[in-house]
Amino acid sequence: MAANILIFGAGPAGLSAAYHLGRACEVFEKEAYPGGHCHTHLVDGFGFDEGAHVFFGRDECSETFVKRPLAGELLAHTAEIWNNYGGTRTGRYPVQVNAHALPADLATRCVLDLIDVAGQPDTDVRSYEDWCHASFGKTFANEFMLRYARKVWTVDPAELNTEWVGSAVGNRVSRPSLEQVIRGAIDAEPQELNYLTRFSYPKSGGFGRIIAPLAGAVPGVRLGCGVVQIESVPRRVTFTDGTVRTYDAAISTIPLPTLIAQTVDAPADVRAAARRLMWTSLRSVNLGVARRDVGPGHWVYFYDHDIPFFRVSFPSKFSPANAPEGHTAVSCEIAYSRRRPLDERNLVGRVIDGLCATGVLRDSDRIVLEHQVDVPYAYVVYDFARAENLALIHAWMERTGLYPCGRFGEWGYHWSFESMESGRRVAAKVTERLGLGAGANR
Ligand SMILES: Cc1cc2nc3c(=O)[nH]c(=O)nc-3n(C[C@H](O)[C@H](O)[C@H](O)COP(=O)(O)OP(=O)(O)OC[C@H]3O[C@@H](n4cnc5c(N)ncnc54)[C@H](O)[C@@H]3O)c2cc1C
Repeated sequence: MAANILIFGAGPAGLSAAYHLGRACEVFEKEAYPGGHCHTHLVDGFGFDEGAHVFFGRDECSETFVKRPLAGELLAHTAEIWNNYGGTRTGRYPVQVNAHALPADLATRCVLDLIDVAGQPDTDVRSYEDWCHASFGKTFANEFMLRYARKVWTVDPAELNTEWVGSAVGNRVSRPSLEQVIRGAIDAEPQELNYLTRFSYPKSGGFGRIIAPLAGAVPGVRLGCGVVQIESVPRRVTFTDGTVRTYDAAISTIPLPTLIAQTVDAPADVRAAARRLMWTSLRSVNLGVARRDVGPGHWVYFYDHDIPFFRVSFPSKFSPANAPEGHTAVSCEIAYSRRRPLDERNLVGRVIDGLCATGVLRDSDRIVLEHQVDVPYAYVVYDFARAENLALIHAWMERTGLYPCGRFGEWGYHWSFESMESGRRVAAKVTERLGLGAGANR
């Protein structure tokens, strides 16, 4: 008898799960388009991704679904990333190997404090705050890494663990050698350190184009048809258009807090654990500016808390197709959460003021487009209770035939290609659990 398998969400993870199941399964997506957070908003000749998105996967899914099918359609870039430390003071990212751009006194304190901790054993390192102090010394840590962490994670860095710092594609925040730090304090030549030094980006269609080959291989996705209610007994789902389906297995990429809230008979301890999960949301204020080459590099990080955005990227530098000739696409990302709600008052005005104050925009610049994208689930926060909450939720889900998948199902810091990999992994698990036999996976 054929198994009845449903997939919730047609982002990279849900599409990959469907592809790898390689058998009849139904995919339901609440939006009118596939791609999830990899979608690109095309507005009046400008292209804006959901926060800065660039491609740097090197694994099998990256090759199969992106690099091979889009060969010749991807632009290769060497990342040019800047920091802004207030006013118009800028230097190359990451600061720990580019300290020459700092005022001399500050650079000296940074280096001296780093020398103090270099070679010391990592005793008593528990939180991200501890790790920054042990890795970079107190001045680099306090002035830069921790200040930025408060801004982007919306919580105190002492509440974060360090599980998210490393990744299979390289460290998100890297510990340099003493030699690298000293060289970076003297030498104006930019030093590379973190995971993202080279990337590719589609020539046209924005980042969203990376999803086209995979979406093309999964026909029949039910778009504009979101899950509204789940009953784990008797494994029944109701969708926005009134469709009702039962399932043997359902693979879900819906963010866990939403999914559990939609499951009417989820037990109280699972509901409580889902409510305890922490994450950040994102508001992107996107601007079309009538000037070519606005801003330094591909993107800039902002450390000061009186500037609303933590990062500004220039998608038209990823691909010229993201803006009309003679214009720049400017995307400003603002983090918020339950812990630090978004202040919406005059948001666009405050963003434009911030761009002028930091030298990204000139007073004479003409803004031809204002556009906003809200991303309610952007980054998972790795607090100390995350693993325990997650274990409880995931164990209950799998007992009831609900399989978590992707960035907000597995609840991790997944890149697009890691989300595709998550889909592949979950498809294999469902195949095995339902006893579907060899050959079910492609
Ligand atoms: C700001 C930001 C920057 C990023 N930068 C990069 C980058 O540079 N490079 C990179 O590789 N990755 C980047 N990522 C990560 C990448 O966007 C994600 O890894 C990827 O989109 C996650 O895929 P997913 O399928 O797991 O989840 P999603 O993309 O979130 O897809 C989930 C899908 O489920 C749908 N859905 C939600 N609720 C329901 C419902 N009730 N019923 C049906 N469907 C539903 C959603 O509409 C969505 O389509 C970034 C992410 C963010 C937020």
